[in-house]
Parts: sequence; structure tokens; C-alpha cells
Amino acid sequence: MPLPPLRSGSRQALAALAALFGAFAGCETVRHDTAPSAQPRSAEAAPAPAIAPATSPGKHATRRDYYVLYHDFELDKSDPLFAELDALPEQVFGELKLPPSNAIVQVFLFDTQERYERYMRAKYRNLPNRRAYFIAEPRAGGADELKIFTWMGDHLATDLRHELTHALLRGVLKEVPLWLDEGLAGYFELPPAQDGVNPQHLDALRRSAFQPDLARLEKFTQVAQMEKPEYREAWAWVHLMLRSGPNAKKVLHDYLQALRTDPNPGPLLPRLRDALGEPEQALVDHLASVEPPKPRGRSRAAGPK
Ligand SMILES: [Zn+2]
Repeated sequence: MPLPPLRSGSRQALAALAALFGAFAGCETVRHDTAPSAQPRSAEAAPAPAIAPATSPGKHATRRDYYVLYHDFELDKSDPLFAELDALPEQVFGELKLPPSNAIVQVFLFDTQERYERYMRAKYRNLPNRRAYFIAEPRAGGADELKIFTWMGDHLATDLRHELTHALLRGVLKEVPLWLDEGLAGYFELPPAQDGVNPQHLDALRRSAFQPDLARLEKFTQVAQMEKPEYREAWAWVHLMLRSGPNAKKVLHDYLQALRTDPNPGPLLPRLRDALGEPEQALVDHLASVEPPKPRGRSRAAGPK
């Protein structure tokens, strides 16, 4: 289905296809030098003829400041989620001291999991089954298209914040190391009132004999190397840098500034060591001191963690 044109000239160039999110409430990133799997599949790859052709939502287009939501059903525009998502760029760029992005993200919101999965199987055959994806899709002679695919469900708010964080970062940075990309998305996926604290991650890390190893995380380049513990640790390092004090925060800010112009500024750990002495011990101490967010009432963002 042809989609309505978006604002032109506002998409940022992206180098790779990135596909994100794992059903275990973490997220997975798949990077390719080229994106053959992101191209529309030919007819023989379509679902069986007995099933209606898979199409992306497009009956309605809800245009917001930095994203367009495509959907085939009526949406309650007064839902607080919209205001939260509207505030996300300011939250992300403000906290990270990055310039705003002009990129427009296309968000395809399916009404059911079945329709979403059928579409993804048909169009992105090579991607593993995930509950949401962010894909930077190369276009001939132009900036890449930023697309998010997901479906209505209890996880929606968390997933949208997570995927939109990836999209926002990719609009302003040359490259984002895998662990840092997921750590930042894991931080900003949380409702703003939680101030970046993921109580499930915090509890799991405190209960385990957690031995931080950022050097190990920084070596990862393939999504298969990141499992749930690695997503937790990535979140923890980001929380340390953003919430333990000015020295650690400056390390992250400086590193992100470097990533604006240099896709490979080297490892972050030595910078953190210069600032904190023993970053691993600092992280353990920080996690012991973090206050879990107070339980709130109904929250759509809690999701099936
Ligand atoms: Zn992610």
C-alpha cells in the first residue's frame, strides 16, 4: 500500500539497517552492511495464497512532531502516551546534550500481533520474530527511511519509547555502539517518572553476584552476543553515567559528542576509569544506592517484563 508522503528533506542518513526488540522485554539489534533483508520480498516469498496479502497499516496517519503513526483503527489522541512520546526528544537530547534531530520516523502500528507478524514474515523474511522492530531502510540516492513496526498491546508504550530512542539517536550520531544503543534505549524506554530506574533490572542485579564487565560489553557487535543479562548491564552502565554524579555524566556526554563525528571513537571504559578510578566498583556501589521507583497506579508502560 503506498503511504502518504512525509515531510521531505528531513530524514537523516543512516548507514545500516537496525532491527530491534526482543520479546523478553529487552531489545535486539541486527546490523547489516547492506540491507537485502529489508527489501520487499518478491511474490514467491509472500505468505500462502489462502492468506490475504500482508499490508502495513495506512488507513489513518497521525502526524506528530517527529513521527507519523500509521494505523487502520481509531486512536484515542488524548491518551497520555502521545504527550509522553511528544516529550521524548527533549528528554533524550536534553539529558544527553545532543542537538535535536530533524528526522521523521514512520511508525506502523498493527492492530493485532497476528497481522504484525504476518507482515514482518512476508516483508522481512530474514529477521527473527520480535515484538517490535526499528529499521533504517536505505533509499537509492537519498537518506534512509526510519521505520518502526509494532502492534497494540500492553508493551506498546515501552516499545515505542525504546524504538523511538534508537531512531532519535541515529538521527544525530554517526554510529552507536551496540551496548550503548541498548543501554540508552533501556534507560529512556521507562516512564519519565521512573527517572531511568528499571526496578526489574535493579532487583535482578542486586540479587545476583553481579560482576560488571564493560570491556566485555564493548566488544559486542552482533545481537546474538547480547542476552538478557547484557541488556541489564548495559542499562546499569547508562544509569551510572547519567545518575551518579557529574564526572561520570561528563564521560557519557563527551563520548556522545565524539560519536557525532567519529563512528569509532574507541572504548568508553578507559574514559570512565580516568573519571571514576574503578568503574566496576562504582557501578556496584551505585546500584546499591539507587532508590527503586515508588509503585504507581495503572501504568501502560509497565509491560510484561
Ligand atoms: Zn533496542
